[in-house]
Amino acid sequence: MRLQNKVAVITGGSSGIGRATALLFAAEGAKVVITDVNDAGGQETLDLIKAAGNEALYFHADVSKAADCEGMIAFAEEKYGAVHILFNNAGIMHSDDGDATGTTESVWDLTMNINVKGVFLGCKYGIPAIRRAGGGSIINTASFVAILGAATPQLAYTASKGAVLAMSRELAVIHARENIRVNSLCPGPLRTELLMKFLNTEAKKQRRLVHVPMGRFGEAEEMAKAALYLASDESSYVTGTSFMVDGGITSAYVTPE
Ligand code: NAD
Repeated sequence: MRLQNKVAVITGGSSGIGRATALLFAAEGAKVVITDVNDAGGQETLDLIKAAGNEALYFHADVSKAADCEGMIAFAEEKYGAVHILFNNAGIMHSDDGDATGTTESVWDLTMNINVKGVFLGCKYGIPAIRRAGGGSIINTASFVAILGAATPQLAYTASKGAVLAMSRELAVIHARENIRVNSLCPGPLRTELLMKFLNTEAKKQRRLVHVPMGRFGEAEEMAKAALYLASDESSYVTGTSFMVDGGITSAYVTPE
C-alpha cells in the first residue's frame, strides 16, 4: 500500500479526476476526505469507496470560500488526526468562456475565484496542517492549456491554469525545506464530463484529437495514477514540477497521420 497511514484531502471529489483519485488513494491505504459543492456526487464517490471496502468521508466545501477551505482542513484533522496530502483539484471550465472580447467579467471572475483562489485557499489552510503533520505533498491540478494556446479559446480558463503553474512553483520553493512538496498535475484533454460538455459534437472532438499524438482522450484514472505518484513517497525528490500527463500533446508539432 503506497499511502498507508496518510490522510488526503481531495477537492472536486464528486466526479472525474477527483473521484478516480479518491478511489485509488483509498485503495492504497489513505484515509480520504472528499470535498465538493456537489453533495450527491460526493455521496456516490463515498459509496464507491465503501463498496471497495475502503474508507472516506465527505465535507461540503466551495473552494472559492475561505471559511469552507478552513473548514475542510479542520474536518480532516478532527476526524483523521492529520493532513499529509492535499489535492487541490476542483475546477471549472465555463461554457461562456471565450476570447478577450466575448468573455464577460463575471465568467472571468468566477473562473479565477474557483480555479486560482481555490488553490490559494486550499494551500492557505492546508499548509499549516501539513506542517503540523511533519510534511507532505500538495498537488494542484493545472492543465496542458497552461503552456499551449488554442484557436478555440477559453481565455479565463487558460489564464487560470497558468496561474496555478506559477503559484505551485513558488509554493514549492518556499516550502522545500519544510518537507512539503508542491507539484502541478497537467492533464491533457480527458474523456471526462468537463471536457465532453465543451466538445459537444463529434467534429469538435476529432478537431481536438488531431493534436494528440496518442490519438485518444485521456482517462480520469490515468490522472489518478499520476496523482498517486506525486502524493506518495516515491516522488520524494520531486517538487515544483509541472507534471504533463497529456498523451504527448505538449511535445507535438506534427502528429502521426
Ligand atoms: P469534473 O467537472 O468532472 O470535476 C470537477 C469537480 O469540481 C466537480 O465535481 C465539481 O462539482 C467540482 N467543483 C466545481 N466548482 C467547485 C467549487 N467551487 N468548489 C468545490 N468543488 C467544485 O472535471 P475534471 O475533468 O475531473 O476536472 C478536475 C480538474 O482537472 C479541474 O481543475 C480541471 O480544470 C482539470 N483538467 C481537466 C481536463 C479535462 O480534459 N477534463 C484537462 C485538464 C485539466
